[in-house]
Amino acid sequence: MNTAGTGTGPLYLEPRLERRPAALLASGGPFLHALVAALGSPLNVVLPDQIAENVERFRAVFRARRLTGRIFFAHKANRSSALVRHLVTTDAALDAASLGELRHALASGWTGDRIMATGPKDPEFLWLAARTGATVNADGPGELERAAGLVRAYGLPRLRVVLRLSEFGTTGTTLLSRRSRFGTPAKSLKELLDTADRHRDALEPVGVGYHLDTTSPDEKAAALEGCLRAMEELYAHGFSPRAVDIGGGFGVSYLAHAEQWDRYTTELTRAVMGRRPPMTWGGHGYGLRMENGTVKGALGLYPAHRPLAGADYLDDLLSRPAPGLGGRPLGTLLLESLHELYVEPGRALVDQCGLTLGTVRDVRQAEGGEHLVTLAMNAGDAGLEDHGVLVDPVLLPRDGTPAEGRPATVYLMGNLCLEADLITRRAVHLPRLPHPGDLLAFPNTAGYCMDFGATRAQRQPLARRVAVFEEEGSWHWCLDEQYWPITRPGGPRT
Ligand SMILES: *Cc1c(COP(=O)(O)O)cnc(C)c1O
Repeated sequence: MNTAGTGTGPLYLEPRLERRPAALLASGGPFLHALVAALGSPLNVVLPDQIAENVERFRAVFRARRLTGRIFFAHKANRSSALVRHLVTTDAALDAASLGELRHALASGWTGDRIMATGPKDPEFLWLAARTGATVNADGPGELERAAGLVRAYGLPRLRVVLRLSEFGTTGTTLLSRRSRFGTPAKSLKELLDTADRHRDALEPVGVGYHLDTTSPDEKAAALEGCLRAMEELYAHGFSPRAVDIGGGFGVSYLAHAEQWDRYTTELTRAVMGRRPPMTWGGHGYGLRMENGTVKGALGLYPAHRPLAGADYLDDLLSRPAPGLGGRPLGTLLLESLHELYVEPGRALVDQCGLTLGTVRDVRQAEGGEHLVTLAMNAGDAGLEDHGVLVDPVLLPRDGTPAEGRPATVYLMGNLCLEADLITRRAVHLPRLPHPGDLLAFPNTAGYCMDFGATRAQRQPLARRVAVFEEEGSWHWCLDEQYWPITRPGGPRT
């Protein structure tokens, strides 16, 4: 019996896989099994060639709109060395959000002129950024003061700063962009400019920017328009800014089929209402709940199928009209003002760049007919659920034979001795029941879902990370920290 799928057939959430990861999963089963046999489960796999392809897609949007500017990879999405070392061979730049990320970038061949320092800044981080000629994405007047102090005290070159703004304009009573713990509210720009003015010898404001943690294009359009206005203020104060930095948040579409996502969320709502059997462990509602006969709350999930994501999302944003500036497209306004465009994609630049492998240890049937599948990994090793991303793993059978059998409904359990260690809180539908020794490949984990929240709890092993690449039709690998683009098989691309 298959309670979770009753009446509707399996509620698959099949991953969207582009050519490279699809080929690895389709033909690389024995290769991936050999890697896990040698290096253990869990195992993180990154695909450095893919990140270069993703940069090129963003660049194509710039080209098509005749915009110049920079594509900063938000390093925080993944700590891989292979990705960061491969990326330095492209025309991308890098956004470092900690001292550790900045040191990692410098040690991977990046130079300060291609780095922007963002996020909360310790004195050491701020000093090393200033020392190496990075641009500082400044949170507020206090940070400008501290930066200017360091520049003077250590005789450093004039520091380039981007003024980070937030909480852009209102129409009537509606706030056009949400509150943020970062940046300076746009209405307090004057204070920032006064501070920058007092430190003209030490600081060079090269532009203004924002990063909004939202998928809403309307909020981003309002923020971009707010930045265009702020640029005028900078000119009026005698500064010569050149760039508008629109941050990251271009997003990823994780699922292959919109219909599967629509059907899944519809059925989940019905399950919360008690109109169909539960689809989750303990009736978890992903933010939805029943109150006095009606559904309350909001679905706290990442929109796993997105019609517009990554470079396409950027293109769409640039084609949106600026309501307060004559309704002309934002991209056109940037071009006509001769502003450079800075973007800081994290998740979107590592789309399709990696996957996480876990070995099936144990399979047993539960009372409802579903199976409990325990993996040699835990919830921190594949943070898909933790980030609200629902996508099915791909089954890689142990002996390399094609998967066969009837569809199965399973809960994926972690290896911690903890009730809460569920890799999925939802019942997952698989084309067949996994067996011990099979691998489950969690697709597209490179953006935040790889080891952002991995722990050494219970002394379980942390996943190793390998870089995998294709040369002349076959797959090669090396440990992530051993990857240098110039010495991989196939050699330097000069
Ligand atoms: C996290 C972050 C990003 C990247 O966000 P994504 O959603 O991964 O694209 C970019 N800029 C800043 C300042 C960030 O904090």
